Amino acid sequence: MSSPIRIVEIAVFCPNVEPLDYIWPDDPGFRQAPIHGLRVRVPLGSRSAIGLVVGWKAKSLLPVQKLKAVLEILDSTPALPETLCAFVLWSSRYYQYPPGLAFQSILTPALDPKRSRKMRVRTVWSLPESKGDPRPKRLGASSCALLMEAGSNPGGLDERALDPAGRRIARRLERRGLLLRRELLADPAPTPAAPDPGHGSPDRISLNAEQQSAVHAIVETTRDFQCTLLDGVTGSGKTAVYLEIARTILDAGRSVLLLLPEIALTPQLTARMQETFGNRALVYHSERSRYERQAVWNAVQSDGVHCVIGTRSALFLPFVTLGLIVVDEEHDASFKQQDGFRYSARDLAVYRARELHIPIILGSATPSLESLANAKAGRYRHLKLTARAGAGRTPRWSLVDIRGQRLTGGCADETLAVMARHLERQGQILVYLNRRGYARSLLCPDCGWIATCEPCASPFTLHQRERRLLCHRCGQGRSIPDSCPDCGGALIQRGSGTERLETTLAERFPGVGLARLDRDVIFRRGKLASVLEGVRTGATQMLIGTQMLAKGHDFHGVTLVVVIDADQGLYSADFRAAEHLGQQLIQVAGRAGRGERPGEVLLQTRHPENPLLHDLFGGSYATFATRLLEERRQAGWPPYAKLALLIAESADADAAWTVLKTIKRDLEPALDNRLEIFGPAPALHPKQAGRWRLQLLLRAPTRADLQAGCSCILKQHKPRTKRVRLSLDIDPYSLN
Ligand code: ADP
Ligand code: ZN
Ligand code: ZN
Repeated sequence: MSSPIRIVEIAVFCPNVEPLDYIWPDDPGFRQAPIHGLRVRVPLGSRSAIGLVVGWKAKSLLPVQKLKAVLEILDSTPALPETLCAFVLWSSRYYQYPPGLAFQSILTPALDPKRSRKMRVRTVWSLPESKGDPRPKRLGASSCALLMEAGSNPGGLDERALDPAGRRIARRLERRGLLLRRELLADPAPTPAAPDPGHGSPDRISLNAEQQSAVHAIVETTRDFQCTLLDGVTGSGKTAVYLEIARTILDAGRSVLLLLPEIALTPQLTARMQETFGNRALVYHSERSRYERQAVWNAVQSDGVHCVIGTRSALFLPFVTLGLIVVDEEHDASFKQQDGFRYSARDLAVYRARELHIPIILGSATPSLESLANAKAGRYRHLKLTARAGAGRTPRWSLVDIRGQRLTGGCADETLAVMARHLERQGQILVYLNRRGYARSLLCPDCGWIATCEPCASPFTLHQRERRLLCHRCGQGRSIPDSCPDCGGALIQRGSGTERLETTLAERFPGVGLARLDRDVIFRRGKLASVLEGVRTGATQMLIGTQMLAKGHDFHGVTLVVVIDADQGLYSADFRAAEHLGQQLIQVAGRAGRGERPGEVLLQTRHPENPLLHDLFGGSYATFATRLLEERRQAGWPPYAKLALLIAESADADAAWTVLKTIKRDLEPALDNRLEIFGPAPALHPKQAGRWRLQLLLRAPTRADLQAGCSCILKQHKPRTKRVRLSLDIDPYSLN
């Protein structure tokens, strides 16, 4: 059943801004219809490339003689379902990113497009049905141990748990008929669900009135799009609300997607999901192995009903029957991808839910100003949880004015005294400082020399444990000089990081269990789990850390939260800095007083009169956000305007400058006052790893105006010349 010439649109895995037209040949090899999502090989220039069918049409704008034919079909079934194809295509247009590269980036984590899509299997060893004597004679100690272990594991013993010697023994036992080998389809190995002593089984929580009315309001309409902003103070029990609603959706035979900023940091939540939903709960994030992610990919593509807990990339899983999306901590920066395909998983989730006619919940104690504005405008439903669930109460806040004070490792005497008081009463303490490393910089007081990473033009941070200077932008390291390389003078350290704070507090409070939580720590294997476990069991009395402390932890023994530097971000050039500061302070403060005992929050500041700090006081995010929204409205910043950043990167700052200047000049006559262009200007961090970063900031009153301006740029300027690389960041999260 061949048909006349068909033109197919292919999203080729190359930096082209639009899908390309090809001919679907009338050959025996192309009997198959060009379905959406089918992978094909096509000629591209003098080479060939892989791409995905994203559409077809009767006529191309190009003359037929100019079109080339598809070379080969790579799959018998589409790599992506049609609805997902359309979604990715729309996303790539919205973010003005080449569609082929967008497809490539969402496919890569789950299935390598270059490899065949074979299902992975795993080997499991178990005991055969026992007949007669179960204990044969003449077995070595390790063989016996292995048999015992296989027998005591109800699901059998996973071969991945065995070392090479163990595997050899298992094969020997198989030959003697004592062990049975089974090959199972690899499913994701469940994250060991640490039973949480602080909570009963999740089924036993009975929801309070506020939680119940939130659940009722949301499950009322589950067959239609509806975006709900669940605005619940820290500890108000949002998780229980998600779980209850998820249960309803799963019972109705539809899947649930729960997006989280960082899964590794909240094993508690994952564990709770797995307790509640058993093997219907699947975990998907970039730290899982390729085959674990592929197993999740395959599972959701099959007919089953699942609750997937994942980070931003999970939004692109090929769900068959998705019934609900939840975006927890919707304000979090990690939902926005910061390079390549710069999408916001939160914003796209809302679009996907609308397309699928399903409800979506955006949850946070500190909603983004965008979501608040949407709620105020009636586009989102605004549900509030105003009180802490369970035993917790709202913590008491106080300020410590550190102007002119002598500080010990960053702590004022008053702060140390309050810490001592809490330790005496067996309270746990979180100490928050958003700067890792030992000292912020190393410098020479005599001549002013500062240890600097030249390619990034930014000071090195001193790390004591590694005994190195490390650049936090590019990761390069250097050994620590003994004296000033310029004048030979003695060097001094300036500014505390978490590492130094830990040393100081350890000296000050000997015998107290101390731990640290920052990126330097969690990259060490197994360390994160043991740090969190230490806090839970109470072995750790004081936990020092960066913003990782602020992320969703539910520790019940914490009675004091100390913020070492509440001013970081108070006076920044980035228009979002104040919003981020407020969110972090409220979130980290929200870790205090979640148990029986009341909590206290201490902020060290040099600006005790600052009105923003005052609004935050007592944990009132709403007042704070209202003031910020009003400021944004007056200044014409988002959510009251739309922004895009055009970024030019080059080793040659002048070249980048010239390109941006030209673009601005070409664009300006066509602007018609619908688009403002600021710059070119250096980015907030203008240099990284030897490449300069300059940018134009585009601002428009509406999305349509902004899109028009951006596509105008992309049509006229090659994104990559030899020297300058251009990229667009639509709805940038920061002006970095
Ligand atoms: P949030 O995510 O809103 O900060 P959590 O979901 O972590 O809050 O819940 C905070 C604590 O309150 C948890 O320890 C949880 O078990 C408990 N909790 C939640 N709902 C209830 C309830 N209805 N009754 C008693 N405890 C609850
Ligand atoms: Zn010097
Ligand atoms: Zn560097």
